[in-house]
Amino acid sequence: MLTNLKLRLLSYLVILYMLVAFAWWSVLLYSKNKDAYYAKIELLKIGMSAEGIYRSNEHFLHTKEYLELTKKYQRQEWMIFGEASVFIISLVIGIWLINRGYNKEIEIAHQRRNFLLSITHELKSPIASIRLVLETFIKRKLNPEQIERFGKNAIKDSERLNELVNNLLFAAKLESAYQPHLEPVRLDYLINNIVDSISEKHPKVIFLKNIQNGIPIIEGDQNGIVSVITNLVENAIKYNFTTQPKIEIDLQQGNEKIFLNISDNGIGISDREKNKIFERFYRVGNEDTRRTKGTGLGLYIVSQIVKAHQGKITVADNIPKGTIFKIVLPKK
Ligand code: ADP
Repeated sequence: MLTNLKLRLLSYLVILYMLVAFAWWSVLLYSKNKDAYYAKIELLKIGMSAEGIYRSNEHFLHTKEYLELTKKYQRQEWMIFGEASVFIISLVIGIWLINRGYNKEIEIAHQRRNFLLSITHELKSPIASIRLVLETFIKRKLNPEQIERFGKNAIKDSERLNELVNNLLFAAKLESAYQPHLEPVRLDYLINNIVDSISEKHPKVIFLKNIQNGIPIIEGDQNGIVSVITNLVENAIKYNFTTQPKIEIDLQQGNEKIFLNISDNGIGISDREKNKIFERFYRVGNEDTRRTKGTGLGLYIVSQIVKAHQGKITVADNIPKGTIFKIVLPKK
């Protein structure tokens, strides 16, 4: 990191030197050109005097030779200014582009590191707990109740692992060849099912559904859309540390579009992070996020699925606190 910073500083110094050196050469060229111009005028005057053409300074300033010389000088002056400006502008644009690329590289490296850290943790903890359950089964005599409890926990962990691997595979597929498998999808029905199954797992969460009557059936990838809604609802619960998490799901239709809003009263997302959260492996780097499990793949998958349905997803602040994810899908 320190070497990177040193290299960066060094390259800025070199660039600064180039700029100053070029500015210096431009000024020098400009003043030499001016000197040459004055010398040529003097020479012209002497030549004219020798030929007896020179009458007065006033007359000299109107002669064809003087005017041509001045015009040429002014052209050269503009050339120097022009070349210097083009050089400086291209240098500045070049530096800006290099800097942008460099920052992107750093961000990608940072994300990769975050991803490796979180994925290692996400893989290790369910594996460790499944192992513990199996070891307990072998070493201890358990009663049927304990067997059921431990067994259920192990199943939950294996589901978590399965979900993680599926997400990874799905994200890899999105990179290369995701084509939504189109079929008739009833959004209102899906939302009701998803909310029912999630609220079973999270009885404390309050769900408010506002589903307009007569929402048309759309053509879409049912599994993909289920994954979008599930991800958003699960995030709304995960990033919510209030005693009473409240999630509102709003489904409305316009003339040509369908509007799905999922709002929560959770920790919210700062403006700076709002357009980054849809990037692959991006996790908001604050303490609240760090205490939650995740890989930063969920919203990337969500946004890619919405995009594949020619839809749009945006995020806004909820009032008084929390987040609203807004999805607009075409009616098809
Ligand atoms: P993960 O949940 O695995 O970290 P996601 O791609 O689903 O990855 O989310 C990316 C980041 O966006 C999360 O790390 C979190 O900081 C933020 N985020 C997502 N949904 C919410 C939400 N409803 N409220 C607050 N922050 C959220």
